[in-house]
Amino acid sequence: MPKEIDVTEGRVAASPDTVKRLAGLGFDVVVEAGAGTRSRIVDSEFEKAGAKIGKTADAGKADVVLKLRRPTAAELKTYKKGTLVIATMDPYGNEGDVAAMADAGVTAFAMEFMPRITRAQSMDILSSQANLAGYRAVIDAAAEFDRALPMMMTAAGTVPAAKVFVMGAGVAGLQAIATARRLGAVVTATDVRAAAGEQVQSLGAKFIMTEALKDASGEGGYARELTDDEKKAQAALVADHIAKQDIVITTALIPGRPAPKLVSADMVKSMKPGSVIIDLAVERGGNVEGAKAGEVVTTANGVKIVGHLNVPGRVAASASLLYAKNLYTFLETMVDKEKKVLAINMDDELVKATMLTHEGKVVHPNFVDSAK
Ligand code: NAD
Repeated sequence: MPKEIDVTEGRVAASPDTVKRLAGLGFDVVVEAGAGTRSRIVDSEFEKAGAKIGKTADAGKADVVLKLRRPTAAELKTYKKGTLVIATMDPYGNEGDVAAMADAGVTAFAMEFMPRITRAQSMDILSSQANLAGYRAVIDAAAEFDRALPMMMTAAGTVPAAKVFVMGAGVAGLQAIATARRLGAVVTATDVRAAAGEQVQSLGAKFIMTEALKDASGEGGYARELTDDEKKAQAALVADHIAKQDIVITTALIPGRPAPKLVSADMVKSMKPGSVIIDLAVERGGNVEGAKAGEVVTTANGVKIVGHLNVPGRVAASASLLYAKNLYTFLETMVDKEKKVLAINMDDELVKATMLTHEGKVVHPNFVDSAK
């Protein structure tokens, strides 16, 4: 497992636990020196778990490379043909890099394409990382907010509870609701999938949805894009509500589309000075008008719009443990445990869904055409 080249990436793709399990499967595990430092895993812990501590160049001898980010051109040059590279590949808009992985002859797997089926739940990096992002969004909001979240009744008077509104109640949103509730905030949430309502309420938050929008569930439990009329109805509902909120956390995504714009500049203007908005969708274009990727913007009326990048990486040590386990569990399905060799079943739906390149070709159906 190499050290990530991107210095802003604090996570690692293996943990002492997964190293031990990999060794148990028969792998000789090499971890690049210092790879775990930013996730507080020191080399000696990896060594104790059964890994050898190596150099960057050792990736070139590996049969399997576990990573966070897609390999760079410089990294690819060092890998041998046939190496399995398992990572978050972020392939949309990066088709040239997908082709480069095919040209390098590596077999690349995009973990974010793991099907959301029961068998693959323990390999679902989107869930494991979004869960932590939802948690961290509330912590970031609380840190930017200059008032308390819980109601405090003291001899010196009463501090009211903060009002938190979560937009998008998927994995990240539900964890944001739970975290804000634990901190004592009064929480409301919205989503376009009717099924989310029950989950929101079971966490003790109030679900807000317009009558005009019955249900916008799309394929596979994800949301579909709203029609123009539905968007207007949603905006009307949200506009009044947002003006009364102290903290807004947006998490809304639509597969394969830019993030829907949910909070307009006028809505931001309607909020009280000192209010905080966390846009977890900022890397996908953002849910909030005025949000800037990687920045905390303070508007003229004193509202902070937070657009942190790689929010799971802001809880790197926890995120690494879960990410490492996701990768291990997937890799385990590609090992013949008796013979202790790699044995990829090309008919396995997990392999079909995640494999981007193999034997010099782009093989994933969504990218085959762009490779021609
Ligand atoms: P996501 O990250 O794609 O989107 C986040 C949320 O934003 C979703 O709840 C979506 O409905 C919502 N959203 C989209 N457009 C919106 C809009 N205009 N206004 C308000 N909200 C909007 O979603 P996710 O967190 O990946 O979860 C998607 C679904 O997958 C959920 O039903 C979740 O329970 C399900 N899921 C299933 C599994 C599994 O079965 N293994 C694992 C994880 C998630």
